Amino acid sequence: MTVRTRIAPSPTGDPHVGTAYVALFNLCFARQHGGQFILRIEDTDRTRSTPESEQMILDSLRWLGLEWDEGPDVGGPHGPYRQSERGDIYTQYAQQLLDDGHAFKCYRTAEELDELRDARKAEGLFVALKPQDLALPEEEQQRREAEGWPYVVRMKIPAEGVCIVNDMLRGEIELDWSQIDAQILLKSDGMPTYHLANVVDDHLMGITHVLRGEEWINSAPKHKLLYEYFGWPMPELCHLPLLRNPDKSKLSKRKNPTSINYYRRMGYLPQAVLNYLGRMGWSMPDEREKFTLNEMMANFDIQRVSLGGPVFDLEKLTWLNGVYLRDDLDDQGFLRMLMQWAFNEEYVERIIPEVRPRVQTLSEVIPLAGHFFSGMPSLNAQSFDGIKLERETTVKLLQFLLWRLEVLRSWDKEALLGEVKVLANHFDLKMKGFLAPVFVAITGSQTSTSVMDAMVILGSDMTRARLRHAIEVLGGVSKKQAKALEKEYRDIV
Ligand code: GLU
Repeated sequence: MTVRTRIAPSPTGDPHVGTAYVALFNLCFARQHGGQFILRIEDTDRTRSTPESEQMILDSLRWLGLEWDEGPDVGGPHGPYRQSERGDIYTQYAQQLLDDGHAFKCYRTAEELDELRDARKAEGLFVALKPQDLALPEEEQQRREAEGWPYVVRMKIPAEGVCIVNDMLRGEIELDWSQIDAQILLKSDGMPTYHLANVVDDHLMGITHVLRGEEWINSAPKHKLLYEYFGWPMPELCHLPLLRNPDKSKLSKRKNPTSINYYRRMGYLPQAVLNYLGRMGWSMPDEREKFTLNEMMANFDIQRVSLGGPVFDLEKLTWLNGVYLRDDLDDQGFLRMLMQWAFNEEYVERIIPEVRPRVQTLSEVIPLAGHFFSGMPSLNAQSFDGIKLERETTVKLLQFLLWRLEVLRSWDKEALLGEVKVLANHFDLKMKGFLAPVFVAITGSQTSTSVMDAMVILGSDMTRARLRHAIEVLGGVSKKQAKALEKEYRDIV
């Protein structure tokens, strides 16, 4: 058997460090067994998936030095590798499940589903809806069918009992069927859900081992049942521990930068980031901190993954990066890195329209545009002195902007402008007045290039990191204050 692993990211946002971490472990596992590593794009969520996000994921994984044998950009014998291009395949397999009696068409409306859930809750039961809960009286089912009501296809799920799933790291895991819904497989628009598409593709693409984040453990019983319904062998499962913040909470962009773009913009070296990700729950047999991808592949052993919740610690990563910069690069290598990092044509070209109208000599460029080539600007509370707002209002304004940007889908000037307008309105400020403290937070000074353009160019994670930094410099927001702010924030439309 040839070992085949895969990474299956959904292109719904910035490329996440967690995706790179799972990709790395899949790649190492495949290579260690002389196998192949596949990249598949899971873009069945049409409202949230974007081609820009897909491109960023591919670019950033490649920047890190991860390569795949098959994928949407490199092709391969099991394509297409983008789920949005495989629609007919899923419809066909959903039909097979319907024909075999393993799935059913469900015509229930959203209101009816809510009522059914409430009723179960009132009885003290799990809210998971089972086929028998969802069944309509035969006549009603036929009427809705005849009238062409929208429907979803759901899989049949046992009412009770335990499902035992085998995990390469955890051994046997027992999950309770009574907590599991009659999962939707095809949505009313005919698109498959993650579960159907994932199982069908893993099978058709010959995946033998699924290494993925532990947040997917609860999906395993449904997948196991689908493999049984189809009569297919199930790949081995391995749920990797989630990356955590130093306070052990789940790594999230609210607390820490999670986008690979951020680490790139901050000037971390790809080999250092990859090395650090390799230390997440795994260690070399001799426990050394610093190793290359090739060394990791040569020494990889999945059984050495510890389940203790690996901490993604910025300080440690920064330390390791420093070691790489000092020990691994000679002056020529350092120069090349520096040029690749930000002094490359592509990046500088984006900065030129920002600086050219504003300078008279070239020597003014770096002082004016330094914020495009730095991490956190050096700020203190006095940096905001010229701004005609109470400090409390400034903090509130920055915090509200930060929250809005955390959930912003597309990172372009128009979208950013939309957010700024809504908030300026809320604070009853003109654009300029609203942007004044944002200007300081992002550029570190009161006169510079356009702050809106700077946010677009710096990207989402860097922008948000600078807003967080400014809030801290201004004294931060206590938990109690955050509660009051959240209340006010919720009312903004
Ligand atoms: N599309 C899923 C994700 O975004 C894939 C999960 C899996 O590996 O099965 O992580």
